Amino acid sequence: MKKAVAVKEAATVVKMTKIQYFPFAFFEGKVVMTELAKVSIMTNALQYGNGIFGGIRGYVSESKKSVNIFRLKDHYYRFISSLKIINKTINYSHNELVSITIDLAKKNKPDTDCYIRPIAYASNFEISPDLSMLDFEFAIYMIPLGEYLPVSKGLKLGISNWVRINDNMIPARAKVTGGYINSSLAKADAVKLGYDDALMITIDGHLAEGSAANFFMVRDGKLITSSRYADVLEGITRRTIIQLAEDLEIPAEERLIDRTEVYIADEAFLTGTGAQVAWIAEVDGRIIGNRKIGPITEKIQKLFFDIVRGREKKYSGWLTKV
Ligand code: PMP
Repeated sequence: MKKAVAVKEAATVVKMTKIQYFPFAFFEGKVVMTELAKVSIMTNALQYGNGIFGGIRGYVSESKKSVNIFRLKDHYYRFISSLKIINKTINYSHNELVSITIDLAKKNKPDTDCYIRPIAYASNFEISPDLSMLDFEFAIYMIPLGEYLPVSKGLKLGISNWVRINDNMIPARAKVTGGYINSSLAKADAVKLGYDDALMITIDGHLAEGSAANFFMVRDGKLITSSRYADVLEGITRRTIIQLAEDLEIPAEERLIDRTEVYIADEAFLTGTGAQVAWIAEVDGRIIGNRKIGPITEKIQKLFFDIVRGREKKYSGWLTKV
């Protein structure tokens, strides 16, 4: 992509054949044209997956006049926790990360739903995987993003025979770039088998989560999600849904889930920044409920989309307008 083209289209999305992206990125301490934000093949993070990332959504507001970034501060609290788990720091405070992101989003002038991808990565040309020797750079880019998984058709999922990474291997609680090979293997094999996505089990056989989303099910009127001790990423959307269930007076529980409980669940859905709230129609060929979106899922999904579009004033504290 030639620089001149991107500059001309600066207020819109830069279009390439496969991926579309917004024109400005934050890279090595400043805002640059996205296509100039490049690293060397010698970068340690590229070689070993030594990076931490985030994924944040911006939703076009009901009035269409602004974009609502969802739970921006909470995403950066998790980002910093991920860094802490791998015992690294970056040169920016939580407040600075938030304000850099707001400034970049404003500069990109999104007029579509979008996805913001912050990443802290080992930028050294260092051949050793020794994390203690490495310095972490911080960068952000933005892409337009509609549905990552269908939210209204009913997902067909398969339980993967790739086991979810364990806390003492690569902690799923930290959003570590290298850990995503685990998700990639599960997702790719699931798609090859005709599923929309995979569900993954823990090393001791409990249901963990999807390849890039948390799992919820309803049994006997109770909303249940996998325990945070079941090798899951502690999703911001997961936390949101637990809070909404409380507000809607739906009993909710975090606990270990057996594989076969999923098969006989009354309702089930995935949650995540990408996945949003996407209901599940089938798992391993077993129909969930009556193959329609269930009443509890529907209620939660509706409230979620009302909130992110800014139609629910009570939750406006979760939104950052740009
Ligand atoms: N689990 C995994 C493995 C993920 O990649 C994601 C997406 N970030 C989630 C769960 C959902 O997390 P969140 O709601 O914070 O996006």
